[in-house]
Amino acid sequence: MPIHQLPDTLVNQIAAGEVVERPASVVKELVENALDAGATRVDIELEEGGVRLIRIRDDGTGIPADELPLAVSRHATSKIASIEDLEQVGTLGFRGEALPSIASVSRFALSARSRGAPHGARLEVDGGRVGEVAPHPHPEGTTVEVRDLFFNVPARRKFLRAERTELGHIEEWLRSLALARPGVELRISHNGRLGRHYKPLRQGEEQLRRVAEALGEDFTRQCLEVSHAAAGLGLRGWVGLPTAARSSADQQYFYVNGRAVRDRTVAHAVRQAYADVLFHGRHPAFVLFLECDPRLVDVNVHPAKHEVRFREQRLVHEFIYRTLHEALASTRAGQLGASPG
Ligand code: ADP
Ligand code: MG
Repeated sequence: MPIHQLPDTLVNQIAAGEVVERPASVVKELVENALDAGATRVDIELEEGGVRLIRIRDDGTGIPADELPLAVSRHATSKIASIEDLEQVGTLGFRGEALPSIASVSRFALSARSRGAPHGARLEVDGGRVGEVAPHPHPEGTTVEVRDLFFNVPARRKFLRAERTELGHIEEWLRSLALARPGVELRISHNGRLGRHYKPLRQGEEQLRRVAEALGEDFTRQCLEVSHAAAGLGLRGWVGLPTAARSSADQQYFYVNGRAVRDRTVAHAVRQAYADVLFHGRHPAFVLFLECDPRLVDVNVHPAKHEVRFREQRLVHEFIYRTLHEALASTRAGQLGASPG
């Protein structure tokens, strides 16, 4: 075969391999878009674990009708324009990849009305084939519909799990987003039945209420509040007492500048801080928000963006370790007497 340029749809389907693993990754990308658009309310409607239908409606800025085709084109974004923007990106998205990728492996529709526009509009994309923009009634905001995920990628479809399992992954992502955005109302329904409903925090209400909604009061009754800033870094949130430790690492939420991440430096610092208050095989529960100058952290490591790279890795490690070690000092004193041999 001579060298030839791959068609757009195939390029998008290849990219989808990295961005769209399962229904939960679609929900994550779409809800993140809604949050980037300043939504205060996001409704998520699912059928059959999201495989049959994912419909996400938000009250954000919407998209002008003439920009709908761009929204589903590869490498088209309203969020950055230069390398300088990328280095201090404050939005969750910036790669301009999610919509074209998702639209290439599903029956997809994007409907929206931008602020102040007289009408809404809709654009359908069927397995990557882009239709025409048509007028469509829509309130201010955006609705994205994703039907029959992977209908044209049998190899991927085969890896989807039972409805319950896929729903579980979606709920877990939503929990993670809900913790980070307590001011946003999030509602989910599955097969016509209302599921989790995260109510928005009102003025003066404590963020801990959202934490209790997401993780349960077992956690909030047995946690310590952490808040510390030094050397241009800030860490706040809640760490579980040793009594709230778990048999698996299933309640560990760490955010860098509002983005949920998994990072080995962070994980190590936390583990070390808990080292002498936890028994072997037990895992701490925590919700922690690290804030730092966005230029000190590279979020463009992986297309799905749950990894980051810190420019000052050791400084970050030390900061997290010290902050948590001190917070846990009080419990350490109490534990010594109580710990069985
Ligand atoms: P990215 O988020 O990296 O910019 P996406 O493919 O996810 O790339 O989205 C492409 C563009 O479509 C976004 O930059 C944004 O301008 C627009 N968009 C997508 N979803 C929404 C939404 N819910 N509300 C407003 N604009 C949106
Ligand atoms: Mg996006």
